[in-house]
Amino acid sequence: MSEPFDQRPTRIRVDLDALTHNLGRIRAHAGVPVLGVVKANAYGHGLVPVARHLARQGIDQLGVAFVEEGMELRRAGITTPILVMGGIFGPQVAQFIVHDLEITVSSLDKLRQVEAAAQSLGRQATIHLKIDTGMERIGVHSYSAAPFIEAAVASRWCRLKGIYSHLACADDPASPMTLEQLDRFLDACAHITRIGAPMPVRHLANSGGVLHFPQTHLDMVRPGILLYGVLPDPASIPAIDVRPALSLVSQVVYFKVVRAGHPVSYGATWAPAADTRVVTVPIGYGDGFPRALSSRGQVLVRGQRRQLVGRVCMDQFMVDLGPAGTAYNEDEVVLVGSQQGEAIRAEDLARLAGTIPYEILTGLNQRIPREYRGG
Ligand SMILES: *Cc1c(COP(=O)(O)O)cnc(C)c1O
Repeated sequence: MSEPFDQRPTRIRVDLDALTHNLGRIRAHAGVPVLGVVKANAYGHGLVPVARHLARQGIDQLGVAFVEEGMELRRAGITTPILVMGGIFGPQVAQFIVHDLEITVSSLDKLRQVEAAAQSLGRQATIHLKIDTGMERIGVHSYSAAPFIEAAVASRWCRLKGIYSHLACADDPASPMTLEQLDRFLDACAHITRIGAPMPVRHLANSGGVLHFPQTHLDMVRPGILLYGVLPDPASIPAIDVRPALSLVSQVVYFKVVRAGHPVSYGATWAPAADTRVVTVPIGYGDGFPRALSSRGQVLVRGQRRQLVGRVCMDQFMVDLGPAGTAYNEDEVVLVGSQQGEAIRAEDLARLAGTIPYEILTGLNQRIPREYRGG
């Protein structure tokens, strides 16, 4: 786990008990099997440790975006069913089959590629059909899915396990798009019944669907960000109570007094009006901490909310403590998380940086050591 003395004091702490709590809430709320989405390094929380923890909690299925993410989980000994949700390339198909990864089949051509690879390995592939109901991303349009569905049902080399689509606007409870997408999806599924084939697992709901649209829960839900205790749309009122699993902390590495009018950091974009106390924190955009937070972000030092001043550098940024603020070297600095009753959420950073919490979390890169607690 953690080796504090040979690693940076900057670290991501992942509270595995929060993940357990969130999974429990989602399960109770949706009442159907859960596919936990762990793509993009488990939204920055660490792919293998998070997947392993969720597997221990008996999660029904895991979801990743790319085949190499699935292979990493298999190499780590995780045996839970894994769906790779991204589009596939023909030459990769053998890797899916060898590693027992479920394949998203998103066109008739790709179905043929999967069949060819399965036949040459002499092993059936497990597939989920991807129906496009409004993203205009990968997937066969719901209005022309009939021949695609028939070919998949008839395939000898593919085991049809699931059929799914992805919601474009489910983070907005007021958007009419979600129920339109549900209608289109159910129309496509109806074709399976019409041709007398058994219905595979139908899944549609991302975190927004889980929270705001119970009609979309169907046979399985696919929450990502909600599992990590973060809301897809910070403005919405959460239907269930989840807790953020990630905190990001560092320590003061330097303290100085900056004189009135003396600018701080690259570009000399900010200078104090009066003499002030400034500390340096050893994390920057080279860790995925957004440069967009220059002179906008806030951190917690000694239980107080303090302002970032000047530009965020690659490995450091500066924080204004004001003319009378105190802090010492090695004092804890909380970038995401809580300290003495104050809290900063990934949602807050996203708003200040002009982005979404997804981008904040997935941007935190491998240079930051991760530490796991609980579980
Ligand atoms: C990323 C992803 C999800 C999870 O989305 P959240 O908004 O994080 O819940 C679900 N399904 C698919 C296909 C995805 O790509």
